[in-house]
Amino acid sequence: MQKAIISVKNLVKKYGDFEAVKGISFDVFEGEIFGLLGPNGAGKSTTLEIIETLRTKTAGEVFVDGFNLDESPNDIKKIIGVQLQTSGYYPALNLTELIHLFAGLYNRNVNALELLDKVNLRDKAKNKFKELSGGQKQRFSIATTLINEPKIIFLDEPTTGLDPQARRNLWELVRDIRSKGTTVIITTHYMDEAEILCDRVAIVDSGTIIALNTPDHLVDELVDSGFERPKEVKKANLEDVFIHLTGKALRDE
Ligand code: ADP
Ligand code: MG
Repeated sequence: MQKAIISVKNLVKKYGDFEAVKGISFDVFEGEIFGLLGPNGAGKSTTLEIIETLRTKTAGEVFVDGFNLDESPNDIKKIIGVQLQTSGYYPALNLTELIHLFAGLYNRNVNALELLDKVNLRDKAKNKFKELSGGQKQRFSIATTLINEPKIIFLDEPTTGLDPQARRNLWELVRDIRSKGTTVIITTHYMDEAEILCDRVAIVDSGTIIALNTPDHLVDELVDSGFERPKEVKKANLEDVFIHLTGKALRDE
């Protein structure tokens, strides 16, 4: 039996009369990569931001590493890493300075170059955030989530808008972070990504969880129900062609 590091019970969020999250319950296990999938407006970001202590809930209970969100939000803040919206970075500071700024906020000492190394940005240490490519920006914002050595990190659509190489590079980074024991919650619109990266996924639709299991189990369940693809699938797809022709190496350096 795996240990739940996050437990969400009957979570409800109303914006005025509109119920964006309709009494969802799920556990995230320690050390897993957990995916929240669902169409735009399903309630994924709302759910994440409530767990992150950044948004109030209407009803329900949330426990993070044993801390009750209602009683100990500050204890929760200390053990989580949250990716900021990328517009939130001071434009005049370089990456090293930004890391020191964040470290100061967390009251931590960090080796900025070591941290930048982890996300493959050591050679950009003196560059400003706005000088980075899309993939580099995402990697840097993931680096900032690691400053307080969190037990859990939250990544809300970290690969949206990235080219295929940058996306694969980010998967490596997420796997690397998890391999050190960090639990990862991630949202994505890319099903190939969820299938490759996530140990378990919850599919959210209109504020309700309509499926929750390993990707493998969900696919088997669909196949067992008699589902068949309309035509035989080719052994490669256009993305395979793209990667084959342009190579796996990062292009945004
Ligand atoms: P997702 O991240 O799955 O795309 P969100 O959690 O951002 O979904 O939004 C869920 C629903 O709640 C959407 O219909 C959205 O318009 C609504 N919503 C989100 N934030 C607010 C807010 N601050 N005020 C009113 N409605 C909101
Ligand atoms: Mg969202």
